[in-house]
Amino acid sequence: MTLKTYEEELHSFAQPNKAVITHLDLNIDVNFDTHIISGTATYNIANNGASEIILDSKYLDIEAITADGKKTTFTLGSFDENLGQPLAISIKETTQKIAIKYRTTAKTEALQWLNAQQTADKTNPFLFTQGQAILTRTWIPIQDSPQIRITYNATVKVPKNLMAVMSAQNPQEKTADGMYHFKMAQPIPAYLIALAIGDIEYKAISSRTGVYAEKSMIDKVQAEFSDMEKMVVAAENLYGAYSWEQFDVIVLPPSFPFGGMENPRLTFATPTVIAGDKSLTSLVAHELAHSWSGNLVTNATWNDFWLNEGFTVYFEIRIMEALYGKERANMLALIGRQDLDEELESLKETPNDTKLKLDLKGRSPDDGMNSIAYDKGYLFLRTLEEKVGREKMDAFLKSYFKKNAFSTTNTEDFITYLNTNLLEKNSITFNTDEWIYQPGVPSNAAIIQSNAFSTVEKTLQSFVDTNGIDTNITKQWTPQEWVHFIRNFQEDIKIEQLQQLDDTFNFTGSTNSYISMVWYEQSILNNYHGNQVDSKISEFLNTVGRRWYVTTLFKAFKRADRLNEALLIYKKARPNYHAVTANTIDGLLGFGV
Ligand SMILES: [Zn+2]
Repeated sequence: MTLKTYEEELHSFAQPNKAVITHLDLNIDVNFDTHIISGTATYNIANNGASEIILDSKYLDIEAITADGKKTTFTLGSFDENLGQPLAISIKETTQKIAIKYRTTAKTEALQWLNAQQTADKTNPFLFTQGQAILTRTWIPIQDSPQIRITYNATVKVPKNLMAVMSAQNPQEKTADGMYHFKMAQPIPAYLIALAIGDIEYKAISSRTGVYAEKSMIDKVQAEFSDMEKMVVAAENLYGAYSWEQFDVIVLPPSFPFGGMENPRLTFATPTVIAGDKSLTSLVAHELAHSWSGNLVTNATWNDFWLNEGFTVYFEIRIMEALYGKERANMLALIGRQDLDEELESLKETPNDTKLKLDLKGRSPDDGMNSIAYDKGYLFLRTLEEKVGREKMDAFLKSYFKKNAFSTTNTEDFITYLNTNLLEKNSITFNTDEWIYQPGVPSNAAIIQSNAFSTVEKTLQSFVDTNGIDTNITKQWTPQEWVHFIRNFQEDIKIEQLQQLDDTFNFTGSTNSYISMVWYEQSILNNYHGNQVDSKISEFLNTVGRRWYVTTLFKAFKRADRLNEALLIYKKARPNYHAVTANTIDGLLGFGV
């Protein structure tokens, strides 16, 4: 056992230095009638002479446990709302394997069971898991800490007409008997174990990239993501070989709570990025970048979440620049900067939450999953790049990923590595500590400029002044430019002006989910009710479960003092949301408490 030890793990009961899991054999049956997963999780363990091994468990029924084939005793400790319960299993010094017979319950937070109506094809049910940050323990008893990596094999039994896929070597066709076997040979933390089951198909994009989706979506998805192989090549050119052999994406039903989840070998993605014009595919670049930052080099604790996300946004924008040029990359960076400024404003009462290194003691890791980790993390790295130059920055990042591959690192180890291998080596001084340990954004932050966005701002100002808009300028605009235009409406924009813009550009009828989201936000904030936008908003919130979109719109209702309308929609929409989204909106609207 050569586990690095970091500061206290706040979000797992495991004591890996006493006894730690090293490999999982999962054997489960997935029952779509009862909405229960049942089976056995068998672990190889490494024991430092401990008389018990402690796993994490939340909302699971633990039925029986054996140690090396013989029945053993176990206790479930007291329940914590965030963490669940410690599952302490008696073992001997010589114990090599433990096998836990268990079943999930209706309360599981990782699983979302969808009925046929909630899918694209509307003929079969669907199931997907979401493990990050600490939800894997709600469908598998496990040591659920990002510091603990395991390999896994799985046997999954599903109804015959459905296909199962995991964050592992995957089938590309359905089996006749509904039995699927999986192998993940590279060690990963528990939060990256993932499973999706549905009436899905596979289409290859290259020999190592491809897509899974329902029948009615598969061709659109393949066309939308046809640059995937180019993205992998661009990423490898930047920071070294792709370590996971295969890179596939599965497009899930719209209730998936995130844009994407970087499950290794198989990214899970929201269908809201299928825009028909590849305009929202930076999401794929983002999840691909996680194959290095996050999956290969993992944050040691959720307090270090910015190491996963800040690096990934930086890497994502570099991939997008390599494929589509500097202007598109700068637009993405500037949108992120705007998101960051909004986040800083919303966190002004709790400035400690605007530090890159967080303190989540006694809190859910979800509290740290906001624009600070992503966009302040990005801005730090971008500023560092401008200070040291791109060549040195890239050599440094490449060596950082190589040195820490298949391992974890924390903020302090990163700073040491940065000082030794980049700053001191080149006699460069940089205010790293201020960026990481102080709230807000330091004054030396890189200034991000986009010529395209300057034109957008001028066009908007001219419209506000004259009520006229030159459609020769706007006709070439990308969705990002439209988003920038809409988000920058001033507070005193008139209803007649919103109506005029909607009539001219059909924002209410947009088929681009990102434009829809920001337009609906403005409609709510400004009490605009034209072109039946209210029913569109209600329909959107009842279909899409992507937390970022849903939260933005419910926040707008709250800011506009339209809480009653929000609650009316939410009561109906809530059953369509994954627990991750529902928990956030419950808190935002004070629902059910
Ligand atoms: Zn990410």
